[in-house]
Amino acid sequence: MRLEDVAARIAELAPLSKRLDPGSEVRRRLEEEVLGYGRRFLDGLPTAKTYVVPEDGAAEILEAPVSEEGRPISELVGLVERSVDGFGLNPAAGGHLGYIPGGGIYPAALGDYMAAVANRFAGICFASPGAVRMGNLLLDWMAGLVGFPAESGGDLTSGGSIANLIAIVTAREAMGVRAADVPRTVVYGTRHIHHSVGKARVIAGLRECIVRHVEMDDRFRMIPEDLERKIAADRKAGLRPFMVVASAGTTDTGAVDPVGEIAALPAVRELWLHVDAAYGGFFALCPEAPAALSDLHRADSLILDPHKGLFLPYGSGAVLVKNREALQNAHWQAPPYLRDTWESEESPSPAYHSPELSRHFRAMRMWLPLQLFGLAPFRACLSEKIWLARYFHERVRSLPHMEIGPDPELSVTLFRHLPPGRNANAANQELVERVHADGRVFISSTYLNEQIWLRFAALSFRTHKETVDLLLDVLRGALDA
Ligand SMILES: *Cc1c(COP(=O)(O)O)cnc(C)c1O
Repeated sequence: MRLEDVAARIAELAPLSKRLDPGSEVRRRLEEEVLGYGRRFLDGLPTAKTYVVPEDGAAEILEAPVSEEGRPISELVGLVERSVDGFGLNPAAGGHLGYIPGGGIYPAALGDYMAAVANRFAGICFASPGAVRMGNLLLDWMAGLVGFPAESGGDLTSGGSIANLIAIVTAREAMGVRAADVPRTVVYGTRHIHHSVGKARVIAGLRECIVRHVEMDDRFRMIPEDLERKIAADRKAGLRPFMVVASAGTTDTGAVDPVGEIAALPAVRELWLHVDAAYGGFFALCPEAPAALSDLHRADSLILDPHKGLFLPYGSGAVLVKNREALQNAHWQAPPYLRDTWESEESPSPAYHSPELSRHFRAMRMWLPLQLFGLAPFRACLSEKIWLARYFHERVRSLPHMEIGPDPELSVTLFRHLPPGRNANAANQELVERVHADGRVFISSTYLNEQIWLRFAALSFRTHKETVDLLLDVLRGALDA
């Protein structure tokens, strides 16, 4: 190959290749379009529907396949506005009162922009000590919030499910559970532990382990005496009790298991105690929080979901492990090509605490809003949600033929309609469908003891008293229809 030919081919490719790196004029036009989209979206939110029953319009996105030629930004933004934003659930709306609502506070979007524009490598301290320290500062802050010691470890994950996976793999390694032990290994939790724990267990190679469902009290909280009995019986039978999974805020009912009492059981002290605080953990910031949230420090591992309780956009979870070495031992590998990077004791690298190597620099979207606003508005917003659930719990009773669930511990309230002479499940199915068809607000439903119950869950930072009053109006209308 002649050098001139090589140079000629490079010269031919460069102009097209350079289109990937637009200059400041083109960038400004792109910014205007995208920021315009953000403005239209946010300005339209107060009157936007929370739920739009999907129609075929959502398929328009498929009509623009990836091709050799690019398309103008205005066309692409329009496509998103019509086919993505036009249908389904709008989690950015304050009327989202179903499942566990997500967030999307604006400075988090700006944080994502900053993180992606500079694209710092946040996985390894050597590559970006600042990015890694920012993440570790947030982990230390969360550890302090739940009362974990300074030497604990953790990771900023994409969500609660991956956080649960990291915790369970850490527990498996720390407790020395080997493949041959799995069939006699026992995991304990109520029927209301989140299904991501089951997924994580299977991914962690624990599919064949025994899952023991501990009885719940009338407020759907784990009964410690039953846990103690079950562990004793399993030990007697020659099985190997391994891990207790307690919930600090179940998704179904918002119940907080009595973490302190569970941790104090002598039988539990020999097991790994994992607390799933994905939904409820950040309520520890509030004076109204249930007392059990002050016992989170008794856990060996714990997860939190900043994309729930800190109102961040989806893609932010966190795992904390009291014994940092256990976390690191479960995830440590030493690739020769990264030898420049092996350990900085002072600022542990996320890559050695997680399945991820390269990762989204997700600390920035959390750090920026927390620093910008300070903690006080976050506390107020979470406390407000607890009071809104109490308010709804009081008000929904006055609707005709309503059965009301237990007093809310956090921000979930359950209720169902029991019209005389009608099948209750059919009536509640119809009621939730009417609310969805209306679309101004959104609630979801669940099964409790094979009965359909409707759930009110306040966790959007845009949900305020007016939203709850609107839901009461929508319910009243749906019942009259
Ligand atoms: C949401 C949730 C999870 C799962 O978290 P993702 O962030 O959705 O992956 C786990 N546990 C509880 C209690 C939850 O509410």
